[in-house]
Order: sequence, then C-alpha cells, then structure tokens
Amino acid sequence: MNGNSKLPHILVVGGAGYIGSHMVQRLGQAGCRVTTLDNLSNGHRNAVLYGELVQGDVADRQLLDDLLTQHRFDAVMHFASLIQVGESVQHPAKYYQNNLGHTLQLLDAMRAAGVARFIFSSTAATFGEPLYSPIDELHPQRPINPYGRSKWMVEQVLPDYEAAYGLRSMCLRYFNAAGADPEGRLGERHEPETHLIPLALQAAAGQRAHMSVFGRDYDTPDGTCIRDYIHVSDLCEAHWLALQHLLAGGGSRCYNLGNGQGFSVQQVLDTVQRVTGRSVPVQDAPRRSGDPARLVADATRAQQELGWVQRYPRLHDMVQHAWQWQQRSSNSTL
Ligand code: UDP
Repeated sequence: MNGNSKLPHILVVGGAGYIGSHMVQRLGQAGCRVTTLDNLSNGHRNAVLYGELVQGDVADRQLLDDLLTQHRFDAVMHFASLIQVGESVQHPAKYYQNNLGHTLQLLDAMRAAGVARFIFSSTAATFGEPLYSPIDELHPQRPINPYGRSKWMVEQVLPDYEAAYGLRSMCLRYFNAAGADPEGRLGERHEPETHLIPLALQAAAGQRAHMSVFGRDYDTPDGTCIRDYIHVSDLCEAHWLALQHLLAGGGSRCYNLGNGQGFSVQQVLDTVQRVTGRSVPVQDAPRRSGDPARLVADATRAQQELGWVQRYPRLHDMVQHAWQWQQRSSNSTL
C-alpha cells in the first residue's frame, strides 16, 4: 500500500472505455483511490465517474514515468487496447505496436517506478480454434489472428518479468463482455460499433436499418455461432478479487472469465426482441472470417480460487441493462 493512505491507489489504463469505466466505478465505490490514464481515442471523458482522469497516451514514456513516480500506485490495471479482429488482420503493425509494444513500455515504466502488481485484460482469442469445450486454462493457446497473438505475446512475457523483476500479474481472459451498469450510469459506446448486442439493440431501436447475422451454417443447433456472454459488472468483480489476491501477496495467475453457458446469435436476437418488445431487422450475411463456431469458457478456476460468483448470469439481464443504457444514451447528449 502507498504511504499516503491505507486505501490502495490504482492506476487504470483505459479507464474511460467500456470495461475500464465500469472498473473505475467499482474501485471508486469500494473507496479506493483511482487514477485513469486514457487518450480518449475510444474512451469518453464523462465515463470516468471516480478519481482523476489524466488524458494521455500510454505510448508517452515521459508521461508514464512522471505519473508512476508521482503517485506510488499499489497496482496497475491495463484495459487500453485495440480489440477488432478484422482490423488486426488488415493492420497487424497497429495491433502489435499498441497491444504489445505499449504494454511492454508500461511494464518498463512500472519496473522503473517499483510498481509490482499488474492486472492484464487478455482474451479468449488467445485460444484460437477450440479443441474442446468449455475452454479451461489448460486449453492450448494457439491464436489465429494478430489481435489474439498480440495478447498472447504479453501473456508470455509476464512470467519472465515475474521471475526476473518480481512483477506479479493476473491475466484475465475475457470471453464476450456484455451488459452495462445495472444502475444505468455507464454502458458500451464503441465507435464504430461492431458487437452483437449493441448492434441488435440499435437495430431494434430503429437507429440502423438492419443488422447482419454472420453465418447460419455453423455446426450448432440453430446454425449460428455460440458465444459466452459475461456481464461487465461480473467481469469487474473478478478484477476486484484479482486485485485483492495481489494485494494480499498472492502469486501470478491466469483465469478464463465467462459465464460457462453458450448462447447462439439467434438466441441473443430472440432475447433482444423479448426485452425491447420490438423486432430486430436482420439480413443474413456470410461467415465473418476467424469466427469459431463455439467459444464457451470454463471459469471454474476463478470461482474456486478467487471465490468469484456471478451476479448476472442471465442473458436477459445483460440485454436488459444494455437496453436501459442504450435508451438513456440516445435520449441525452452523452
Ligand atoms: N455477429 C453477427 N453480426 C454482427 C456482429 C456479430 O452475427 O453484426 C456475431 C459474430 O459472428 C459472433 C457473435 O455475433 O458469432 C459475437 O460477435 P461480437 O463481435 O459481438 O464479439 P466477438 O465474439 O467477435 O468477440
């Protein structure tokens, strides 16, 4: 803990983005001191509800050094990354520079400042084509696109940093983050939006003419892809527990964070129709390249070791909270 206060002071890199902003809220509500570093390229200033926001880039080494020496953070949580698989195939350099290069720089700055606890946002995309389902932490990691590889490379670096520099880390591999703050203060605002649930809600609200269903010929019961949707608040709870683990002196670990249940694209669309009471105009489209038929997590390790319990495992709740946010944000100037 830092010397100024008994409460931990956490640096949240990417704290103005979708998951990061929910984490800042979770930390702030728990009474932690929070500093957000975000360049606002994808994040939003008014999504940072607690602590101070430093607008800046993780690529700015001087800024990192100044921030880390000035504050003596107890831990760093790193949410800032590029996340679009298709874009990563088109522009791999951007992904390796951002997701790998900038993370290495952040780790170096932490090392120089003596900050030795790191929570890393990793992804199910580090597993590639599943060899079995559900996917546990022992599943081989063979990512099939630059996005997944950029995250997997960071995962491989971390044990070496622990062995040589004593930097302890938690790698949290998200499956499909979904939903929004149940109180309606925060939600998902990507520009452009590429994710299934917000797109379906926008189509239901009439904000887009239709949405595409990428493939109905998969080897799944209804032919559409199956994903594991996990409520953003539950994801943040897992980060909170991971932070407690590191603050208590626990060693580095990796966890798969998902619901353990798969829902097909069609099931999501049916849920959106039920929640909104509106129809979702859809167009069938070809498969999106790099999409495995089924991605479902086995999150038993996080449950057993961290005591993680999901509060909102129902797809209905995730869609309901996202809809609440969608309605609110389209009725205001957010
Ligand atoms: N999907 C779709 N239409 C869209 C966006 C997504 O059919 O406009 C499908 C996509 O093929 C995948 C699932 O919805 O099977 C979830 O995709 P999303 O982009 O939300 O998350 P990802 O699984 O890529 O992380």
